[in-house]
Amino acid sequence: MKKVLAANWKMNMGMKEGLKLALEVEKKIKSTDKANFILFPSIHTISFINKIVKKKNIFGAQDCSQFENGSYTGDISAKMIKELGCTYVMIGHSERRVNYKEDNRIIKKKIHIAAKEKLKIILCVGESYKAYKSKKGKLIINNQIKDIFPKKFNFKNLIIAYEPVWAIGSNKTPKINEINSMHSYIKQKMNNLYKIDEIKVLYGGSLNSKNCKSIFAIKSVDGGLVGGASLKSSEFKFIYDTLNK
Ligand code: PEP
Repeated sequence: MKKVLAANWKMNMGMKEGLKLALEVEKKIKSTDKANFILFPSIHTISFINKIVKKKNIFGAQDCSQFENGSYTGDISAKMIKELGCTYVMIGHSERRVNYKEDNRIIKKKIHIAAKEKLKIILCVGESYKAYKSKKGKLIINNQIKDIFPKKFNFKNLIIAYEPVWAIGSNKTPKINEINSMHSYIKQKMNNLYKIDEIKVLYGGSLNSKNCKSIFAIKSVDGGLVGGASLKSSEFKFIYDTLNK
């Protein structure tokens, strides 16, 4: 299975900086038979960057509206995201779940709309520190992947990113055996629930040049979703090269 390294730039990088970073990444990083990369820049920059960067189908939006169109001030629809030149959309990032109270009901609606537009989806799942400590992580993840896909969903267009909420931007990560156990659980659950034999599961949460080697050595890890460390092309390249080894 081809590995994936995704860069979540979050609400960083305007037009100029975003273009510079995307061009650096394009120059330094080549998709290989083993892996490819996806960039999630700030939404307002994507159309501009996409016109200049040569490599195609590498862009995604960090979120989309739960509605198709209408009076939803400030929202951006899946269809509009497609128009901007995005191939991917990220849904269910914990910063949206926590800061904007996006629950499974909302995430389900977003998945349905994004699927209708044939966008490839990166669905983020992950447990809070409290749930981690009380060993309820798997229960939480189960609830986050159960009953949220449309009946006729193309699972080839889905990537899951396991991102423990407490690991994001904290410089903390779960232990290697814990990451492996959770990734294996997600794959097993996807098979039980939807009869899916193959699903990419990326690890995200304080992934960087220091810890990527040991995390990518885990068999059940199919790549990474990188936040902070994706804002420097050299750091992102190092992580990508490690994934390719
Ligand atoms: C993220 O926000 O998806 C993320 C993984 O962030 P960081 O790498 O900064 O922890």
